[in-house]
Amino acid sequence: MGEPQQGGQDGQGHRGISRRTLLIGGAAAAAGTVVLARDELGRLWWRMPGVVKKRKEGEVDAPGVQWIAASDDNWRRADRPDDYEIDRVVIHVVQGGYQTALRVFKDPGHGAAAHYVVRKDGHIAQMIRELDVAFHAGNRSWNERSIGIEHEGFVDKKSSFTGPMYAASARLTAGICRRYDIPVDREHIVGHVEVPGTDHTDPGPHWDWDRYLRLVSEERDRPAPKRSASPTEKA
Ligand SMILES: [Zn+2]
Repeated sequence: MGEPQQGGQDGQGHRGISRRTLLIGGAAAAAGTVVLARDELGRLWWRMPGVVKKRKEGEVDAPGVQWIAASDDNWRRADRPDDYEIDRVVIHVVQGGYQTALRVFKDPGHGAAAHYVVRKDGHIAQMIRELDVAFHAGNRSWNERSIGIEHEGFVDKKSSFTGPMYAASARLTAGICRRYDIPVDREHIVGHVEVPGTDHTDPGPHWDWDRYLRLVSEERDRPAPKRSASPTEKA
């Protein structure tokens, strides 16, 4: 992650929503005969005032993870992959501990948060649903297309990245790749440093990409695990 993003939000979130809202209004006013294409409606319906997609409190997207909600101010409600295709996983390093990441992502003033935080013992917190857009990449379109995974530790400290952390994170990423049909390669699984326009350096030189991709591939090829029924399950 690193620092809060400029302006608090993801830069253009509010402007984007109001522009789209105007577009909907314009289309409706334009005339009776004009009907929005079905996929456009799928993309836009949840942005209409009063429309909220049903979510279950505490529900998670990956088996074995613990739900710990981020502040609503650090993400944007969406309906992925119906409105935005998910085709990237972005790997981050906290530059701090697990608890620090949880604390700042719960802070409405932070302006940023990732979907997941991985602890060095392999425990994972999910803080934002995959269908929603987390402000983690510092780039609006990349936020919309990606899932962000934070790892506790420091970019310049190789010992931050433990075996259990790699294994748990790789299982998580493999599941994401399976769910959204994302290829397991370095084009689709990237570091924050590779996001266009970023000034962040994570995950840094000590993150072992060869090892990570190998683990993700192995997990990806396993049969899909059953989804966790219990959101309160502890790992
Ligand atoms: Zn980052």
